[in-house]
Amino acid sequence: MKVDRQIANLVITGFSGTGKSLMGKEVARRLNWDFLDTDDDIVKQAGKPIAQIFSQEGEGKLRELERDTIRKACQQKQTVIAIGGGAIVDPQNYELLARTGLIVCLEAKPETIYERLFREAACSPETEVRPLLATDDPLERIRQLKASRQPHYAKADWTIHTDGLSVSEVAEEVVRAWRLLRRPDFIGTTGNDTSIVGDAPGVIARHEMPKQSHEHSTPGLPRSARNDMRKADRRDSDKDSACVVETATQSYPFFVGYGLLDKLGEKMKQAGLSGTVTIISDDNVFSLYGSKVEGILRDAGFGVNFFVMPPGEETKSMDSAIKIYDFLVEHRTERDDTIVALGGGVVGDLAGFVAATFLRGMPWVQVPTSLVGMVDASIGGKVGVNHAEGKNLIGAFYQPKLVLADCQTLTTLPRRELTSGWAEVIKHGLTLDKEYFEFLESNVNRLTKLEPECLTRAIARSAVIKAQVVSQDEKEREGKRTILNYGHTIAHGLEAATRYKRFLHGEAVAIGMMGAAKLSQRLGLLPSAGVERQQALLQKFGLPTSLKTKRSNLKVSVAGITEAMELDKKVKGKAIRWVLLEDIGKAVIGSDVPQADVLAVLRELAEP
Ligand code: NAD
Repeated sequence: MKVDRQIANLVITGFSGTGKSLMGKEVARRLNWDFLDTDDDIVKQAGKPIAQIFSQEGEGKLRELERDTIRKACQQKQTVIAIGGGAIVDPQNYELLARTGLIVCLEAKPETIYERLFREAACSPETEVRPLLATDDPLERIRQLKASRQPHYAKADWTIHTDGLSVSEVAEEVVRAWRLLRRPDFIGTTGNDTSIVGDAPGVIARHEMPKQSHEHSTPGLPRSARNDMRKADRRDSDKDSACVVETATQSYPFFVGYGLLDKLGEKMKQAGLSGTVTIISDDNVFSLYGSKVEGILRDAGFGVNFFVMPPGEETKSMDSAIKIYDFLVEHRTERDDTIVALGGGVVGDLAGFVAATFLRGMPWVQVPTSLVGMVDASIGGKVGVNHAEGKNLIGAFYQPKLVLADCQTLTTLPRRELTSGWAEVIKHGLTLDKEYFEFLESNVNRLTKLEPECLTRAIARSAVIKAQVVSQDEKEREGKRTILNYGHTIAHGLEAATRYKRFLHGEAVAIGMMGAAKLSQRLGLLPSAGVERQQALLQKFGLPTSLKTKRSNLKVSVAGITEAMELDKKVKGKAIRWVLLEDIGKAVIGSDVPQADVLAVLRELAEP
């Protein structure tokens, strides 16, 4: 059957005792979706348990109620729907469910089912399972009924064998299935015409932007996460989680909120961490938040040590790492203890590097306190230190157990650092998410004033975007992370030509992005209106858009920048891969960009 599918929900089917309700609830929690159990709805509607409807009014009545409930359930969106064991047998139900949702079937051997139902019936005598067990040979009854339904279960999009798996393991599988199934190429193989709304593979987005119809088509990158203000405003118990960063090696939550630091201990315990925590921080951040974090962790039952270093890029060195190793050895730190990185990107990179290497790897948690830290450095597990010959030359990919971003800490971040951080945020919109760009355009004042709700939403969205890219290319092998280098080719040249003293990274990136946009325009990719919109937004956030702004008025020669760019190219031994724009929210990679165009753009930047 060819079904025109508008996938909005996730349907969990399977025989009784396969854990549909439990799993549905857990999956809904993980996706931050609604959960609906059609059996519960039937019970509510009829005012009596399923078993009683069955025995008093017959199976016909039960199926009628079920059809009615399923019809209503299918009108929902972003809902995990657990359906009764026999619901999918009805062709009307199946067609409706398949049209509006992806169907995951939970499987288990009859023996496992029998055991689970037996236990369930013992705890709750009024469940629907009683009729199944009320025979001389319940196991045989389960076998027969299950066999008769098997062809219908086989129509599910995905099947998970649950025998021997914990609730958490099955939930993880369901979420994985959801990710896989939403890939257009995957669904394509079923022969169905499918239009999917939902989050991109690898990332479960929770805070979202206002809904618009735009979708991305950047090759190799995911569509935008589903956008829905309703969801963004609906804050439930797990409201702090912006997304789950899923990489090949690890999945971990990214929590974001205003005043969230208070929950650090709780979140760490939930992540299974215990023992002694070593807080690694710098003087600026520790003097503001050190004792608070220490208190929070002690209250949560952790032992606490701290190691505090001078602020600044120079601290991100092998020397600092060795000092921390010495400290950890002296304090008899064990493999199950935890490192907490409290600070900006410098602290995060260094502390993560120590966590990756001490005792061959120990758990660590990122508590980013700078905007760059929150929207960029804390996501993706790139950790490392600088070498005298270059930045970030020594490092590893090592994912934290969780990231907790308290936006309130940004209120103490020096203004220039904050402004510089906005460049990364704007870059996310420019390269991958037009809606997000528009959200930024409409909320400049609220964001620059650090209005809690708006700020939280922006950081959550940026985190989701970065996490999406990272999830697809954890170790930068496939070049998908390249998209995030928009503006960086010129920025690196600019930083090197000014010996990393003139510009903060975000400032250089803002100028570099202007160069890349102008280049895109010269190459006939981006209309001038796009370049102007980019420039206007950067300026509204207080970022430089040319070399001749107040702060960068000192002479930077075009020759100096090109020299640095050429040197960079030689060191890397490959041609420059330019990240260009075809539209706001749609980046493309170009490697054969004529040098004459690059020079013309650099001259334009120098003399706007
Ligand atoms: P940073 O860590 O040096 O912080 C900037 C300054 O702000 C520092 O002086 C710091 O003490 C101070 N600060 C931080 N939070 C504060 C707060 N809440 N209140 C008051 N002061 C605060 O710099 P950054 O911009 O956060 O990060 C830059 C570093 O991050 C670079 O080393 C860069 O290489 C790295 N980085 C890493 C990744 C990655 O993927 N690992 C990505 C981007 C950047």
